[in-house]
Amino acid sequence: MVRYVYDFTEGGRDLAGLLGGKGSNLAEMTRLGLPVPPGFTLTTEACRAFLATGSEPAGLWEEVSAHLSALEASAGRLLGQPDDPLLLSVRSGAKFSMPGMMETILDIGLNDDSVLGLAKVSGGERFAWDSYRRLVQMFGSTVMGVDSASFERSLAAMKDLRGVRDDVHLTASDLAELVETYKELIRLETGEHFPQSPAEQLRRAVLAVFESWNGERARLYRRREHIADDLGTAVNVQRMVFGNLGADSGSGVAFTRDPATGRPGLYGDYLPDAQGEDVVAGIRNTVSLSELARLDPESYARLRAHTETLERHYRDLCDIEFTIERGTLWMLQTRVGKRTAEAAFVLAAELADEGLITPDEALARVSGEGLARLMFPRFDASATGAVLARGVPASPGAAVGAVVFDTTRAVRRAAAGEKVVLVRQETTPDDLPGMIAAQAVLTSRGGKTSHAAVVARGMGKVCVCGAEELAVDTGARRFTAADGTVVEEGAVVSVDGSAGAVYAGPVPLVDSAVIRYLEGGRGDEGARGVVDAVARALSRADAVRRLEVRANADTPEDAARARRFGARGVGLCRTEHMFLGERRKLVEQMILAGTDAERDRALADLLPLQRRDFTGILEAMDGLPVTIRLLDPPLHEFLPDHTDLAVRIAAAEARGEEPDAHDVDLLSAVNRMHEENPMLGLRGVRLGLVVPGLVAMQVRAIGEAVAGRLLAGGAPRAEIMVPLVGDVRELRLVREEVRRVLADVSRAAGVTVDCPVGTMIELPRAALTAGRIAEEAEFFSFGTNDLTQTTWGFSRDDVEAEFFSAYLDKGVFPVSPFETLDRDGVGRLVSLAVAEGRATRPDLTIGVCGEHGGDPDSVHFFHTAGLDYVSCSPFRVPVARLEAGRAALEGTEGSESR
Ligand code: PEP
Ligand code: MG
Repeated sequence: MVRYVYDFTEGGRDLAGLLGGKGSNLAEMTRLGLPVPPGFTLTTEACRAFLATGSEPAGLWEEVSAHLSALEASAGRLLGQPDDPLLLSVRSGAKFSMPGMMETILDIGLNDDSVLGLAKVSGGERFAWDSYRRLVQMFGSTVMGVDSASFERSLAAMKDLRGVRDDVHLTASDLAELVETYKELIRLETGEHFPQSPAEQLRRAVLAVFESWNGERARLYRRREHIADDLGTAVNVQRMVFGNLGADSGSGVAFTRDPATGRPGLYGDYLPDAQGEDVVAGIRNTVSLSELARLDPESYARLRAHTETLERHYRDLCDIEFTIERGTLWMLQTRVGKRTAEAAFVLAAELADEGLITPDEALARVSGEGLARLMFPRFDASATGAVLARGVPASPGAAVGAVVFDTTRAVRRAAAGEKVVLVRQETTPDDLPGMIAAQAVLTSRGGKTSHAAVVARGMGKVCVCGAEELAVDTGARRFTAADGTVVEEGAVVSVDGSAGAVYAGPVPLVDSAVIRYLEGGRGDEGARGVVDAVARALSRADAVRRLEVRANADTPEDAARARRFGARGVGLCRTEHMFLGERRKLVEQMILAGTDAERDRALADLLPLQRRDFTGILEAMDGLPVTIRLLDPPLHEFLPDHTDLAVRIAAAEARGEEPDAHDVDLLSAVNRMHEENPMLGLRGVRLGLVVPGLVAMQVRAIGEAVAGRLLAGGAPRAEIMVPLVGDVRELRLVREEVRRVLADVSRAAGVTVDCPVGTMIELPRAALTAGRIAEEAEFFSFGTNDLTQTTWGFSRDDVEAEFFSAYLDKGVFPVSPFETLDRDGVGRLVSLAVAEGRATRPDLTIGVCGEHGGDPDSVHFFHTAGLDYVSCSPFRVPVARLEAGRAALEGTEGSESR
């Protein structure tokens, strides 16, 4: 018989899949003996069963009733008991944190009778009616579907009527009147009465939380965070404790260390005389925990002790929600806290130093994505100019964009390609699409734990919040800075999420401290902690990884930078990039050549230029392999645009002039070479086989560069790579030519020039016949860009912009297969080619040089698939090093995946 309900005394953190993050951690804290208000958890399994069938699974309510009875017995009073009601909170809690994306309903158990009992036992009539008002409002909107704005309007009307600005100035009888107004609103809009039965309230609240798993914002958040749609949420039912019972009560959020920088020390926000939701909503500005230490030293000391227990137990930064009810401290939630990339690195290093985690665990706790974030540019401190506002540095980074004041505009303008900064007084979960679309989020209210801050940090989005001196007028679409400067919608601002500052206009960017370190510097004093932590993580990764990392580089400068960033060779040098600019003319001459002699002349002119390029790259990577790919793209890419030429000729003719003869020649060449599907046409190895002299010229340039470097005392290790091979015979023909030319070069130079010849595997046929191809190939390099394109039949230049967002929306795939390798399809071809290639040639070197070589998830796949190296752009090299190290630990450390 399946069990759907667990008491907090029964679960534990290892049951997060079943009890959700919140539920499993409440159970863990209960087991640790921390003061957790008692309660129980309905499992994610119950939620899944409900969502699948539309009705609660059999036996669920019997189990809930049994747990409720036990809770009532321990409390010594009944749910909603008229003279002294037990009240409950009903909260969502999925396996992975989805802050504010699902529903919560508080004060379950209040009705027209028990509100009077609560008033009497709490000694607070106003408090009791305010709690009832909150329940009717939350229940009315969440469970009964009444627009929450209707309640807000009634509340505002009541405040107007009484001439007060703040809720706190409404009296008990005002609130009682408001409850009646709300109930009437519900009756008018739904035809139903607000349920007076506590049991019915509980049941309907639970089901509403189940349903909120499929709410629009929850779905959007999951897509963005790559959380599976079929996990479901658990529901936690817990005895209410109240932070809004007067000056000796309050609610707060604490982090065991600073989640922005990773520095030690209890850190957080506290709001006296308030419920927890008020802190997270960022509606009133909070005070720091040091203020709590002054207000209530005893509770503060207890909080400190509990947070230390938690950090030692979890061996990680924890975040905590707590409530103080008339001087008694209650722990309402804990979890391993979200943190910025900087904090992740610093924390990992410090926890390892403290002996709480091993160096390998420290490596597992950081990520390539985080490292990439630390490599983003920062604002140039010497060029920032006047500060418009200062606020809480909630999520670091530098962003420049046009100011917008609502989600709809943020989404619309971003979709049109504009960079925008979303400015709000505070954000709510409904602002999620706008936050995703924006470069940065700026709010005038709320602390480091407000919705804006938590969500932005989770997404790695720049955020400054609580910039109190800003007067944000969303209606008029403008904000006013303290000095009176008015910033209208559309004006550009620069937001520094690391310093918590906002500047008018665009501020120029400079390299980050981590980039300066990778480039060979030490980084500035202020950034020493994070730079050292990154250095340690990278050196651990280098020590444990099996995958080698090379770079895709086409210039000596890129090759040299890649080497500084830790690349051990060039995995892809795209020679076509050397034919651009001035040199395009020479390629044009080669294409237009009417005779062999003309073509040979054009090729002869290209040869020394190519040789110079190769020499520079071989020098920058001296002693390390440099994989040079023969020309790949269709030749028409080197010719002018068809329409431009046609227009030029037609215009000349219209003027009665003779069109330029060269233009006419070019147009006829363009017409001749026109292809319906150029990516599937005359390109790659096919070019080499049909354009006479092309392979010979390129191989000669490579060979002569190698000879030159050898004679200069260098250690050049050029490898020649043939693109788009589909059959072993193509490779054989090219290889024969390579051998002939290199023999020629060796004879002429008086040194032996020997370059391994290999192929890209970027067509399904190449993967499927890899065993045959390996007879001729001394190495393989997976061109996963083309392999993805040809496996899926996707034109990579078209599909991403055209319909990928629809595919992502419909869940065909969670992430573009051009970004993260499609393991089920393309990945199988890769594995097959590895196995069959090595069966033919056991010492075959195998790498990857498609974009996936720098993508963290794909790097893990390539590690498992047994590749020798990944090759990626120079800036991704440190990311790939780190992830290759983490991949090597997988299975030993078991990093959790979604
Ligand atoms: C590839 O196809 O993965 C590749 C590296 O080649 P290109 O992107 O240049 O076609
Ligand atoms: Mg390719």
